[in-house]
Amino acid sequence: MIIVGTKVKHRKIEEGEFFCPKCQAEREYHLKRAVRYFTLYFIPVVPLTQIGEFIECQSCGLSFVPRVREMRREALVVQPQRSLATILNSARQRLEGGMPIDYLIRDLTAANLDLDVARGLVVNAVGPRQNVCDGCGLSYASDVHVCSECGNPLHPAGTPSGVTRLASISHTAHREGSLHPAGTT
Ligand SMILES: [Zn+2]
Ligand SMILES: [Zn+2]
Repeated sequence: MIIVGTKVKHRKIEEGEFFCPKCQAEREYHLKRAVRYFTLYFIPVVPLTQIGEFIECQSCGLSFVPRVREMRREALVVQPQRSLATILNSARQRLEGGMPIDYLIRDLTAANLDLDVARGLVVNAVGPRQNVCDGCGLSYASDVHVCSECGNPLHPAGTPSGVTRLASISHTAHREGSLHPAGTT
């Protein structure tokens, strides 16, 4: 009796070095081609179809699409999660340096912090008063006066721009008037 069948064989067609996304390091790879063979008595004799090519890391043994070799290194390197402690330690300095509060909250929530907790921490860092940009809507610490994104002047949150200034001017005028009562001799 003749025993026939098929079997997939991997043939090494190239080798070199690549940045392995699993090892996170420069590793030796084999570019392998998977080919289905027609077998006779379990021995591959005739190649039938090419199934595909893949990169095999010689350190961890995992397979990757060949395109992994052309990918930008930054796309493959796993950023060590910036720890919450690191973000919190620099939070106040960054906010007072002109970083939008929205960006800090984004970083905090990316580090798995609850949104409400993140907002609370911002208040802890720079106080409840915030300045807002009319142009882009970003919020800033109250001692930041220019939007770092669009360059617009900021105004305190909760007041339309200009109102605070007008109110304080009229208040000052009234007090000056009362300092000079009429009818002095
Ligand atoms: Zn590897
Ligand atoms: Zn802006």
